[in-house]
Amino acid sequence: MEPITTARVLRGPFDYEAPEGAVVGMRLIVPFGRRDVPGVVTGLARDSEHKLVAPRRVLHPPLPSELVELAFWLADEYCSTPARALALLAPHPGQRAKTALWAERVIPASPNAVTEGREPMSAQGVDADGHSAGGGRLTGAQRVLLASLPRFCGPDTAALRRLEARGLVRVGPRVVRRAPAHLSVGAERPQPAPTADQAAAVAAIASTAPGEALLLHGVTGSGKTEVYLRAAADTLARGRSVIVLVPEIGLTPQIVARFAARFGDTIAVLHSRLGAGERHDEWLRLRRKEARICVGPRSAVFAPLDDLGLIVVDEEHDASYKHEADPRYDARRVAAFRARLAGAVLVAGSATPRPESFRGLRRVRLPRRVDGQGLPPVEVVDMRRAPRALHPRVHEALVGARKAIVLLNRRGWSNFLTCRSCGRAWECPNCDVTLVLHRAEGAVCCHHCGHRERVPGSCPDCGSTSIARHGTGTERLVDDLLGFLPVRAEVFRLDADVRHAAGVLQAFGSAPHGILVGTQMVAKGHDFPDVDLAVVLDADATLRFPDFRAEERTFALVAQLAGRAGRSEAGGKVMVQTLVPGAEAIRFAAAHDADGFLAAELARREALRYPPFSTLVRIVCSAGEAGPAHAAAQAVRDRLGAQPALGPAALFRLRGRERAQVMVKAGDRRAAIDTVRAAVEAVSAEKIHRAAAFSVDVDPQ
Ligand code: ADP
Ligand code: ZN
Ligand code: ZN
Repeated sequence: MEPITTARVLRGPFDYEAPEGAVVGMRLIVPFGRRDVPGVVTGLARDSEHKLVAPRRVLHPPLPSELVELAFWLADEYCSTPARALALLAPHPGQRAKTALWAERVIPASPNAVTEGREPMSAQGVDADGHSAGGGRLTGAQRVLLASLPRFCGPDTAALRRLEARGLVRVGPRVVRRAPAHLSVGAERPQPAPTADQAAAVAAIASTAPGEALLLHGVTGSGKTEVYLRAAADTLARGRSVIVLVPEIGLTPQIVARFAARFGDTIAVLHSRLGAGERHDEWLRLRRKEARICVGPRSAVFAPLDDLGLIVVDEEHDASYKHEADPRYDARRVAAFRARLAGAVLVAGSATPRPESFRGLRRVRLPRRVDGQGLPPVEVVDMRRAPRALHPRVHEALVGARKAIVLLNRRGWSNFLTCRSCGRAWECPNCDVTLVLHRAEGAVCCHHCGHRERVPGSCPDCGSTSIARHGTGTERLVDDLLGFLPVRAEVFRLDADVRHAAGVLQAFGSAPHGILVGTQMVAKGHDFPDVDLAVVLDADATLRFPDFRAEERTFALVAQLAGRAGRSEAGGKVMVQTLVPGAEAIRFAAAHDADGFLAAELARREALRYPPFSTLVRIVCSAGEAGPAHAAAQAVRDRLGAQPALGPAALFRLRGRERAQVMVKAGDRRAAIDTVRAAVEAVSAEKIHRAAAFSVDVDPQ
């Protein structure tokens, strides 16, 4: 039995008396120390050297045993613990099924009634002239009520209870499904006949061996979703179930809507924004095989299906597949492992696949857009001499556009504030970063820890009231655009500060004219047929990150946004503003040349021994003071032996914690993970490093 706790030191498994019908995966509540905690049966034994206590209770239904195996793998692969991994997979034990009162009609006992078995419900309770078996006449309203059964009582509970007292109706609790709502956005069309490319892709998936993976590399608008839908239908027909992973669900309502439209109640949706009750019910529907397709973001890779035939990872390049808390799993890697475990086929789809997938997976191409349109022409706009945030040519194009999407990967009004007389910059008290102005809220905010203060009226250091705002974020851009656009155009904003992303997308989708301004959220797989202009501002912003994935991210962002434009006969165009028009990632994206980019990027990675030619493991040590953080990182580094590693290097202070990092760049993945685990366990157990916290990230993003 593995208790589900978060402590790293508490290492199970622990022995308990086996309850009736114990199986691996059974969920329990057990006494543990002085508390009762949830746990999962991870193994069964004939005897034990410990004195055994009995579990308090058994929770139904159990986890599929496959998920228990997955949890152990997860703990191992990501330097975590089985308990933390199980906590991710198991539903929250506090949840119960929701019930409501259900009423159905009762068949009156009559001398010639069949006594064996139960008669089906029918309209027999009342005779022709309204005399009921319970005696006395029924009112018209009561007859209407009876005719409406069976159903949930709702507001008629009292009236139905009166009929129950007369023996006409049976009232009792029944499980209610708390169904999440699927919002539909954008183009909704009936099931189309597949194109030749789509049919070939579906056939390739069908002939893929169980446990194997395939890369569906299709340009934007090539109809990848239709391939997933058909592969899913094939899988259901073979009697097996399906998981479809999508980036953040609020941003990709279209694909959920398409699955819901095609498969109805056969799909269940699992994601963190569901209420706990809804999530519980969807989980149960999957576990009981009432739903056979699970659609959701990365955590849906843990859907409780024990006969998986297909896992789809849509937009496989998306960074949201990485979980940024312990265990720091990558859902794409988990999906590949789970597919092997279950004998399912893995399909990773993207227009901009990762170098890892491009190199490692068999590839099927969808080289053309479904509608036969070419990809839109891309103009790279050199900003080195431009006086303003918007180049005059872009300005002009926006005024003339019917519907445009503008990507600016910076939210808020301006990046930072300084005092014009003494040069003071407003910084976060908890993190080494500047505060971003959010004008509508009248606040300056830290985008790392959430710290916020009122907009300063004057400088606390010198008293000057002259404060400069630097840079432009999405909030300010919307304001600028409203200043010069023709009145008929509406401007919508989509970024992390906007509460109802799906609603914004829907409004933009149905507006006849308009501009959608936002961060990278606007580039995520949306399908609006009438967008005739896509603009990327500051395209090289992502290139400035000191990270080996900077090129990959920039290419994907520009290519993905370009793919949102020109999806109709009217065509469209793309404009990319940049300070480095010669950058490889931007040039390849402008030419829609994913193969060229991937070949160049893989050559660069191989030369520098970056993934997929090595495995990176990042260890971050943090503490209230810089000294202990650095000392702990140095101690970890010292224990890595011959394992090649960089650091310790200081990271910027975050949430009041000083941080130091060691980066392992290894040829042998298994050996690197094992060495790091041993080093971190040893150092974290040492008294002198008590002040430090440790975090291990395998395959950091
Ligand atoms: P992708 O995900 O590859 O960018 P989508 O799956 O969003 O592309 O498909 C683009 C559009 O083409 C959608 O509106 C979809 O309904 C439509 N579509 C897909 N397949 C076909 C087909 N075989 N015939 C006609 N339209 C199709
Ligand atoms: Zn000042
Ligand atoms: Zn902060």
